[in-house]
Amino acid sequence: MTGTINDGWISSQGPFVQRFERAFADYHGSAHGVACGSGTAALTLALRALGVGPGDEVIVPEFTMIACAWAVTYTGATPVFVDCADDMNIDVTRIEEKITPRTKAIMPVHIYGRRCSMAAIMDIAFEYNLRVVEDSAEAIGVRPVGDIACFSLYANKIITAGEGGICLTDDPRLAAQLAHLRGMAFTADHSFLHKKLAYNFRMTAMQAAVALAQVERLDDILAARREIERRYDLGLKDIPEVTVMPPRDVLWMYDIRAEHRDELRVFLEGEGVETRLFFKPMSRQPGYYTPEWPSLNASRFSADGLYLPTYTALTPADQDYVTGKIRSFYGTA
Ligand SMILES: *Cc1c(COP(=O)(O)O)cnc(C)c1O
Repeated sequence: MTGTINDGWISSQGPFVQRFERAFADYHGSAHGVACGSGTAALTLALRALGVGPGDEVIVPEFTMIACAWAVTYTGATPVFVDCADDMNIDVTRIEEKITPRTKAIMPVHIYGRRCSMAAIMDIAFEYNLRVVEDSAEAIGVRPVGDIACFSLYANKIITAGEGGICLTDDPRLAAQLAHLRGMAFTADHSFLHKKLAYNFRMTAMQAAVALAQVERLDDILAARREIERRYDLGLKDIPEVTVMPPRDVLWMYDIRAEHRDELRVFLEGEGVETRLFFKPMSRQPGYYTPEWPSLNASRFSADGLYLPTYTALTPADQDYVTGKIRSFYGTA
C-alpha cells in the first residue's frame, strides 16, 4: 500500500492493477482479469463486452441485488426475471420458459456464497446460444464457469478495496474488450478518437494494492470464514424459530430465516447487534414493478430472512454474544 504512494503510482497506471488482476485470476483458475471500480461496473462491462445492447433481453434472477437489473438497463437491454428455487438461487427449471428470440444472455448470481447449478445453466446457454455473465460478487473464491464472471470488492464483500470490482474470463478477446470499454475506448495511439461509447470504470493503484494484499491471504480468509459459519451453525441449530440455512461454498454473509424476524431485529439492534434484511424481488422494485406476477418464491425469503454480523475478524466471543442474544429473544435455554 505505501509502495503505491511512495512510487508515485496513484492512478490506474503502474504495476499494481496488473498484479492484482493476475493474482485474482490465478487464484480462480481464470486466464484473464480486468479490474474496475465496482461490481456494478464489472457487470456493465461484461454485458457490453458480450455485445448486449438495446433490443436484447437478459435473464436475471428475481432474488438478487438491484445492480444486476441495473447493469442490464444501463446497456439499453431489458432484464427478464426468473424466480428463485429453494436454495435462493435462480430456478434453473424456470429459465427456458423466459427465453425469447431476443434473449442474449443469462446472469446467474451465486446468492450468499452458494454456487448456482452452473452445469445446467451452461447446458441451456449452449442449446439456445446464449452468453453467461456470472455474478460472483458474493462468491469470491468460487471458480467461475461462465463467459465472464464479475466480482465486487465493496467494503462488506469477502475481500475488499473499499470499492472495486473485477471481471474474469478465459477468452483473450473478451478480456481486451473489457479493458477497452473500461478505459474510455482509447485507441492504441491515444489519438482521442473514440469509436465506441465506453466508460471510465478504472481501478486505482491504491485500491489494487489493498486488494492484492488480501488475495495473497485469501486461503486464510476463507478458512476463517468457514469457522465463523460453523460456530453460528452450532450456536443456532437448536432454536426452533430459527432456520439454519444449507452450507455455503464460501461464507459471505451468514443468512438465517427467523420467525418474528422484525421484532428480533429491533431486539438485536437494542443489544448492539446490527442485522440486515434479505433482498427484495426485482419485480417488486419501483423501476421494474410487474403487478401481474403471481406469488414469488423470492418473496418468502424476503419476508423472514436476515443476515447476522459477518466479517473475517469477527471473534468467537462476539459470535457467542450474538447467538446468546438470539436465544434469549426466543427464550431458548
Ligand atoms: C455487492 C453486489 C453487487 C454490486 O457490487 P458493487 O461493488 O457494490 O457495485 C452486485 N451483485 C451482487 C449479488 C452483490 O452482492
